[in-house]
This record gives sequence, structure tokens and C-alpha cells, in this order.
Amino acid sequence: MSEIKIPVSSPKLGEEEQKNVIECIKSSWISAQGPYVREFEKAFSSYCGVKYGISTSSGTTSLHLALAALGLGPGDEVIIPSFTMVATANSVRYTGADIKLVDSEPDYWNIDVTKIEEKITPRTKAIMVVHTYGHPVDMDPVMEIARRHNLKVVEDAAEAHGAEYKGRRAGGIGDCGCFSFYANKIITTGEGGMIVTDDEELANVAGNMRAHSFSEDQHFWHRRVGFNYRMSSLQAAVGMAQIERLDNYVQNRRRNAQIYNSWLGKIPGIKLPPEASWAKSVFWMYSILIEDEFGLSRDKLMERLEAKGIETRTFFFPLHIQPIYAERFQGEEFPVADYIARQGMNLPSGNTLTEEEIETVSKAIKDSRS
Ligand SMILES: *Cc1c(COP(=O)(O)O)cnc(C)c1O
Repeated sequence: MSEIKIPVSSPKLGEEEQKNVIECIKSSWISAQGPYVREFEKAFSSYCGVKYGISTSSGTTSLHLALAALGLGPGDEVIIPSFTMVATANSVRYTGADIKLVDSEPDYWNIDVTKIEEKITPRTKAIMVVHTYGHPVDMDPVMEIARRHNLKVVEDAAEAHGAEYKGRRAGGIGDCGCFSFYANKIITTGEGGMIVTDDEELANVAGNMRAHSFSEDQHFWHRRVGFNYRMSSLQAAVGMAQIERLDNYVQNRRRNAQIYNSWLGKIPGIKLPPEASWAKSVFWMYSILIEDEFGLSRDKLMERLEAKGIETRTFFFPLHIQPIYAERFQGEEFPVADYIARQGMNLPSGNTLTEEEIETVSKAIKDSRS
């Protein structure tokens, strides 16, 4: 392995983060009781255009907590895309509910909304959409289907901080949205997550279950099984500094995508990441498909870039082929998910990426064909 010179993603932290963390330590309010937690919840939920934020220890725990607070359990079913990160599915399984998979649409690689209804059964309780790689899902038809079948809509917005659907922020459209603040996400708290919602009841239940489900009338008295999924004030202190940078990060990522597009657009066999007219993508990953015309397979291209110190990633392996889930989906077909998983790759996309690095990566891709 050669040394990585241009990483896929690396977080960008500065003096504000340091200042907040030091202040947090000096005050000795470092647990979830510290003031930064409430402040961060308020700032991020209002950024998403909704009233309530329930911070958590990770994106995965925010998804599980949301589903648990919605009352999901054994015997229920949740519809999700096959093409997603495994945590989307696992969070459903933690509740005991089953996953039903839907193929992707070929344009933005999100759940194919036209194929959701055929997967609905009397057991279906929720649809969980994923704003893949930062491009929002076409939410209007999803909300319409959910209304017609009396289903909840959870947005897995772990990759889509700041993305917009028809002017509304991702995560703020469904019954709730769930975010991750892992180090490679658009903003980070190291590890962390948040549910955002306008539903007061859901916010209260999730807030209670997040911290052991203590009873309001009697401490150490528990009427339902809770979790410890709290975010610490140290993490929220970093989050408060990061949220100040969020608009700037989104702008940079959109600019970087345009620069990549202008370098790679003329190379045959490369399919660029599209953006719908109704969408503002945040390009969490700058993702391309390497098609036959390119003349070199995706995997070969990745090897050649790696030799030059350029780190890349394959797309996710879809859930229907994962060893933990494949058996349940034998006989079902997900041709688009299969295709994009085979041809897709993520180029360096992080918050520290420079224009010169984009040029280096783009030229290396061009040169790799000869
Ligand atoms: C990152 C991610 C998660 C999980 O977030 P963690 O903070 O790592 O638990 C869930 N869903 C999607 C789509 C993700 O990209």
C-alpha cells in the first residue's frame, strides 16, 4: 500500500472547536447535562427547519431511537432501500421489526419511489428513506404514499446535512430525520447523531428513551426499556463550532463537485453525479460510475489511483447481497442497486479537499486509461 496523499475524507477542525471544548472542561459540565448539548440541539434542529432536536451518541443510535420511539417492534415491517449503509437496516432489526427492500432509481441512486407501494403489506409501519451521498430523495410522492397507507416516514439524513428538497432541508420533511456526526460526515462531533422532528410527542418519547426511560413522577422507576444513547457536552461543544461552518462546507462541496464535473465531464465512460432541478445536493461523497466505455474497470482504476496515493472507496454493497441479510431476499431482484454497486466509486470529497487536489485526482483518472 502506498501512502495516502489525498484521503477520501478528513474532518476540518479549528480554534472555535478548541475554545468550546476547553470552556466545557473548565466548567466541568462534560456530561449530557452540560449546556452545549441543549444549545447544539436547538441550533441544529432549527437549521433543519423543525422544532425539536434529540442528540444521540451516533447516527445509528439516532435511527434506532427514532424507530423505538415510534413504537416499532417484532412483527412490524419497515421499507428501506437496498442500496444504503448497513446501519439503516441494522437499526430496524434492533427493534425486532423486519426490513423490506426496494431497488434504487438510476438517476440519483435513491430509493425508487415507484416501487415502494408493491412492498407494502398489512405489517408495514414505516418507510425509511436515505438521502444517498447527499442528494435528497423525491419526498413529495413518499409523503403521499405514507399518508395513503398510514405509515411513518423516517429520513436517514446521515449523509445530507444542509441538503434541500424544494427549498426544505433534508431531515425536516418526514415525521423525523436522523443525522450522523461521525468524523467523515459533513459536520462532525467525532461520534454523535441527532433526531430532528416537529412532532412534540415523538420528541418527548425519544428524549425519555434516550436516557434510561426514567419516569417523570418517580426517578429510578421505569415503565419501558430505555437506552443510554446520550451525546456528551464535549461532543456538542465541537458540534456548536462545526455548525457555524456548515453553510461554508456545503458551499465548498458544491463548488468542488462543479470543478470535478468540469474535469471529468468530457471523459467517455464516466457518469457524473447528477442533481435534480428540485434538489440541492451537498455531495457528501463525490460519486461517479465507471461504465464500459471508460475502457478500464472500476477496480483497476481504483488500484491505479491508490498507487498514486489517491484514496477512493467503492459504493456500498447492497443489503440484499450482505451475508447477514441475503437469505431473506432470495428470488427478489434489485438490478439498479446491483449495477451502481458494481460500477460506482467515491472520489476524495472531504472538507479539507483543495482545488489543486481535485486537479491531481482528475488528471490521474484521465491518465489511467492510457
Ligand atoms: C454514516 C451513516 C449512518 C451511521 O452513522 P454512525 O454515526 O456511523 O452510526 C447511517 N446511515 C447512513 C446512510 C450513513 O451514511
